[in-house]
Amino acid sequence: MHTYRTLIFKLIDYAWAIPNTALGILLGLVMLALGGRVHIVAGVAEFHGGHVGNFFASRPPPFCFGAVTLGHVILGTCHKELCALRAHEHVHVKQYEQWGVFFLPAYALSSLWEILHGRNGYSNNFFERQAYREDDKQKL
Ligand SMILES: [Zn+2]
Repeated sequence: MHTYRTLIFKLIDYAWAIPNTALGILLGLVMLALGGRVHIVAGVAEFHGGHVGNFFASRPPPFCFGAVTLGHVILGTCHKELCALRAHEHVHVKQYEQWGVFFLPAYALSSLWEILHGRNGYSNNFFERQAYREDDKQKL
C-alpha cells in the first residue's frame, strides 16, 4: 500500500515537471544530434558532451557552466562535470518537482530581486542557495 502511494506521488512529481522536462529533452536531442551522449541516473536523464558540451565548457564566465537542470533532465558539458555537480543538480530536480511550471519564472524573479538589490543574481538566488546548502549537507 505504502509503495503504491509513493509511486502515485512520484508520478505526480514527474507530471508536474513535464513542461520543463520536455524542454530539457528537446535540448538534449540537439546535444545528441551534435555528438552528445545520454544516460539515466536516479530517474533523471543526463545529457553531456558533443559540440554543445564543448561549446559551453569553453565560454568565458558567466557563459561557461558545468550543468543546467530542466525538470528531470540535466544538460552537462561533460561526464566529469555531471559527476561533480550531480548532488547540486538533483536539488534543482526536487525544486522542479515542487514548483512545476512556476519554477523558471520564480528562479528568474529571485535573480532579478537580488540584482536589483546590488547582489549576485546567481550565487544569491534563493534556489541556488538552497541547492548549495543541501549539497554541502551531503558532503559532511
Ligand atoms: Zn544550481
